[in-house]
Amino acid sequence: MNIIVLWLLVTPLFFAFGWFAGRIDMKTVIKQAKSLPQRLFDSVDALIDNKTGIASDNLRDIIEQEPQLTELQLSLGKLYRNRGENDLAIKLHNKLLNSQYLFSGDEKDNVRLELARDFQHAGLIDRAESILLKLINSELYSHKAQDLLLDIYQQDKNWKDAIDTAKRLATSDYSYHTEVAQFNCELAQEALIKSDNEQALKFINYALEINRKCVRANLLLGEMYFAQENYNQAIETWQLIEKQNYLYLPMIVEKMLDAYMKLNKTKEGLTLIKGYATLYPKLNLCDFLYQKLALYDNADSALDYLKETIRVQPTSKIAAIMVDVYINRENFIPELRHEAEMVKNILLKYNEKLSNFRCGRCNFKSKTFFWQCPACYEWESINPNNSEN
Ligand SMILES: [Zn+2]
Repeated sequence: MNIIVLWLLVTPLFFAFGWFAGRIDMKTVIKQAKSLPQRLFDSVDALIDNKTGIASDNLRDIIEQEPQLTELQLSLGKLYRNRGENDLAIKLHNKLLNSQYLFSGDEKDNVRLELARDFQHAGLIDRAESILLKLINSELYSHKAQDLLLDIYQQDKNWKDAIDTAKRLATSDYSYHTEVAQFNCELAQEALIKSDNEQALKFINYALEINRKCVRANLLLGEMYFAQENYNQAIETWQLIEKQNYLYLPMIVEKMLDAYMKLNKTKEGLTLIKGYATLYPKLNLCDFLYQKLALYDNADSALDYLKETIRVQPTSKIAAIMVDVYINRENFIPELRHEAEMVKNILLKYNEKLSNFRCGRCNFKSKTFFWQCPACYEWESINPNNSEN
């Protein structure tokens, strides 16, 4: 009987506690539903208006009141980083890492990855590397960590570690052959600067072994032969570039002609380069060829070449050269000289504006050629032909 009485007394108490607990939860839910979304919407609005300072202030206020919102903390960390506030991002991620709100190892690894990104952005490469090396064994974040390590090694010009990391990252979907060949070319270039031909040759061969289409490897190999006064071998090596990727020919024609000149075969060299210009009319070879023909052949053959070329390749540069040729003729009418010079300069300015090396991936434009795009960091994405386009 006593037990039944006890149950009769206790059961309503359970209901009362449940009702009370329910009320507290409901209060929290209602509070969050009312206040949290509004502040979040304010942040989103500020982001849309590019007012990232206001957005980060709003997010920081929310997080101060709701520190359990770890995903939102990660978003704020990214926002700080994008605003260049690396110190705030580092502070936030360190605090989050030591907080009571991260429960699983994977969640902590995610924060560690973000912290490594903060250090990378802050230029503290060693600290970023040390975090990432520990993440290589992470179940979920190993690939991302190694991907970031690869960026860091390239940023740091640590080509040997970059090669090892790229090889580890390689899959059947993406081989990293272009990158690994380029890293070897970087090492070959460093060796060539130190006149260590043996090492340079080793890296060049590695580059060609992993990517037989690696133009830069043959370019460097030709330069090595040229420096050794082995001009025939240099020419033979540079000629291989036509089959690898003819778009890179403008990068080697001057070196190639130098080699022919060293062998006293200037005309043979000019004929070969003229052949390239005929076969690949879109390549930017006309200016170079005209100057060399005028210098080493004769003025008439140079002008004939110019007249032939302007029909198939009507660019402002060729037009400017033609105007210049006529201005410098003895029978040119002196009264027209001023206007003709003006036209020539307008054409040259127009050409200067349009002649850029352009990245096929991100459209970055530059007057200088880069093997790796400085904007999107892609290798071999910049078109080596800077003719008007
Ligand atoms: Zn790019």
